[in-house]
Amino acid sequence: MSPAADTPLAILNEVFGYAAFRGQQARIVEHVGAGGDALVLMPTGGGKSLCYQVPAIARHRGGRGVTLVVSPLIALMHDQVSALEEAGVHAAFLNSTLEGDEARRIERELLGGRLVLLYAAPERILTPRFLAMLDSLHERGLLSLVAIDEAHCVSQWGHDFREEYLGLSQLHERFPTVPRIALTATADDHTRADIVERLALNGAEQFVASFDRPNIRYTIVEKDEAKKQLLRFLRDEHEGDAGIVYCQSRKKVEETAAWLQSEGISALPYHAGLDADVRKRHQDRFLREDALVMVATIAFGMGIDKPDVRFVAHLDLPKNIEGYYQETGRAGRDGAAADAWMTYGLVDVVNQRRMIDESPANDEFKRLQRAKLDALLALAEAHDCRRVRLLSYFGEHSTACGNCDNCVHPPAVWDGTEAARKALSCVYRFRQHGGISFGTGHLIDVLRGKHSDKVAQHQHERLSTFGIGADLSEQQWRGVLRQLIAQGHMRAEGEYNTLELADSARAVLRGEVSVHLRVPSDPPKRGKASRAG
Ligand code: ADP
Ligand code: ZN
Repeated sequence: MSPAADTPLAILNEVFGYAAFRGQQARIVEHVGAGGDALVLMPTGGGKSLCYQVPAIARHRGGRGVTLVVSPLIALMHDQVSALEEAGVHAAFLNSTLEGDEARRIERELLGGRLVLLYAAPERILTPRFLAMLDSLHERGLLSLVAIDEAHCVSQWGHDFREEYLGLSQLHERFPTVPRIALTATADDHTRADIVERLALNGAEQFVASFDRPNIRYTIVEKDEAKKQLLRFLRDEHEGDAGIVYCQSRKKVEETAAWLQSEGISALPYHAGLDADVRKRHQDRFLREDALVMVATIAFGMGIDKPDVRFVAHLDLPKNIEGYYQETGRAGRDGAAADAWMTYGLVDVVNQRRMIDESPANDEFKRLQRAKLDALLALAEAHDCRRVRLLSYFGEHSTACGNCDNCVHPPAVWDGTEAARKALSCVYRFRQHGGISFGTGHLIDVLRGKHSDKVAQHQHERLSTFGIGADLSEQQWRGVLRQLIAQGHMRAEGEYNTLELADSARAVLRGEVSVHLRVPSDPPKRGKASRAG
């Protein structure tokens, strides 16, 4: 065989059947192949796997032995290993799904230096037995490379922190001369700094790809009747397409799937509470069929490689921008036009805030989660380009994209200062009047001057703020309150989501700052006539 046969490009051509490297792959492969450490930040679908698989093959051919791949996801390991074996690359995984005999067979292949890549979960790798095997390989010069996939799991700032990942620093202490490549699709500065620090990758070269997914159109609509809005979106824009609808709870997943079915849409539920065989069956159908809508919790999606997902819809607000980006990123991996569509309303803001408040986490962690939620709310409430905001969260500068709702139909903004002052002063009066706080429903009733039982019970018709907001509809008030909470002027607290003023409310009440609000609207559908009325 000529030496040229072992070049990265030759490996890419012959083993994987691809003509050329994409983006920064060639540079990464060369750097790692030569024994350099690397940190690779590349969006989902960007082609991270080849960044370690090609060097692994090259180095194995050069007599350097096995590449250890740390991966948290069993499904992913399985898919990768099958694909590699099919391409004629000797690879295996060790995880809890294997029988003892099979595990021992793989261990023999490993110790014999025959394996090119071994995938394993971090908790497995850090067992004394496994470390002893690595020692043995290392002593004989047969531990070639360590690849750490989903490296953001090492960071609490990331969206799926895994305790076991912290232990991976041991590998470097034990085998300081073995090169490492860490890979992730989560690129914000915080997570990146955590990865570098906790995996001791200070000397590693960083390769940062653009996180833009230009073929995805981002749309965030105000929640009115979420299910009907979803149905309209599916019928108007995605008839016969495959897509994912994310909901927060298992119950809502089941209800929504059943409802879509009753509306004649081929939909299936997926969440962690379903039996394993049901989950598998639904997942297989989703992968196989062209027009299936998967209604799911975020348990669905990690490691699912279906290129022609035409839309990802959110009926509930994700936890943060990382989550939103990951979840929407499952759309359009084939590069063709795809939609990321979300409905978002007052209840979402209130619920997400409350979930953070009530979580058992420590204050520092809660503070972090609130900051991240605020960033997501700012994206949801934005009047300007969604993509610019999304990318800037990941430290990337860009200009208005022309392919998001706000670019296509710039939203009208109104000066909501007066409305904001009415609402905030009414919240203030509640406290002053009876010393108790109320939720949004009652606040809207009082503002609109509605003589409800609760109003009578608390004699709120006597408040000076009673009826001062009759000029706005109930739906309009919900929009105002949502934005006031999202902008941090008031909070919904406790079991009943009662409203309290935040410090910044004072400046609004005194007329020192003005409040700009989005005009509630359902943007007209693209390429079709605007809705009448
Ligand atoms: P990631 O792990 O970054 O989400 P993958 O490694 O799974 O992405 O790659 C996404 C898809 O792109 C896979 O189907 C992969 O085979 C394909 N791919 C990656 N690099 C190339 C390339 N250089 N040429 C053609 N296809 C590629
Ligand atoms: Zn835009």
